[in-house]
Amino acid sequence: MIHEGDIERVVEACRQLPEPVGNYLVEDYLTNLMATVVDFQLQTTAVERALEHFATRVRPYLTGLDDLADLLERWPADQAGNTALARHLWGYDLWTRAQMLRELVDYFTAIGVTDQDALKRWAVTATFDRDFKGRVHGLGPAVFQWLVMRQGVDTVKPDVHVHRFAARAVGRPLSDAYVVAVIEAAARRLGRPAHRLDWAIWEAGRTQATSAGAQPTSAGAQPGFRHELSAPGVTVDVNEDRDVCTFVDDDAGYVAWLAAHPDGYVLNHERYPSIRYLVLHRAACATMAPRDGGDTRTWTSAYPKTCSPTRAALADWAKANTGGPPSPCGTCRPPD
Ligand SMILES: [Zn+2]
Repeated sequence: MIHEGDIERVVEACRQLPEPVGNYLVEDYLTNLMATVVDFQLQTTAVERALEHFATRVRPYLTGLDDLADLLERWPADQAGNTALARHLWGYDLWTRAQMLRELVDYFTAIGVTDQDALKRWAVTATFDRDFKGRVHGLGPAVFQWLVMRQGVDTVKPDVHVHRFAARAVGRPLSDAYVVAVIEAAARRLGRPAHRLDWAIWEAGRTQATSAGAQPTSAGAQPGFRHELSAPGVTVDVNEDRDVCTFVDDDAGYVAWLAAHPDGYVLNHERYPSIRYLVLHRAACATMAPRDGGDTRTWTSAYPKTCSPTRAALADWAKANTGGPPSPCGTCRPPD
């Protein structure tokens, strides 16, 4: 049972929290698999670099689970093979995580959770004890909780920041189950989604850890994941008054925009924009447009483009969507 006084104290502490800035849903099935085995008990920077490596060097070449399964087959499932596989996927010798990935792929394949829609459906009804415990050696309840939260399940992940927050509020350390229950109860009382409280607590905790000079550890922590901007084929004016638009799976729209704005600017980013890969180009940059005659490359699939006539608008967009400034392209050298 949860003590009424604890709920009240947590409610009061939650009232002090600002709304979260980030959005930590992950809409890509393969990225979710990677995050599940990589994003726990590692330094945040290692997690971010490993997932950036996957996003930029591996993910663009995979269409789905079948491609990943073929990739896993290239190396034997022993320590040497898993080390080579881990280096390929993440740029790190995380060989035990590579073995977990194999087991996770086998398990999800066996139960038909083979794409993002199926993963979302599974996450809604899955419980740790029934659907995850013991399926992949080394993956525990916090990993499960974080996996289903990335699919939008409204709960709380009892990581180090959440524990610290709750312990400070009620005046004593709490168990994982109690932390989840008391914050969910506080969320109901506040009329706020539990996962948004979790995000807000995590953001506040990360800020404090950083400003205190402490090295934040992952502990299943949430890296700079961001939500997908739009459904494929849909162009969204994310900020109409400032004329910023993002092209996703819309090469024709993108090329037309370039033609109409030769003095504009283009941000190149992943489908889930993040500071991990965010490059600012001039619209006239030779690397950002198809060459004349028979250029069959795609321009807005693996790397959507966010465009604007002004550099300042893209800087604002980058800050709002990724928290940081873009890196300038070394070829076209946009002005600071
Ligand atoms: Zn450029």
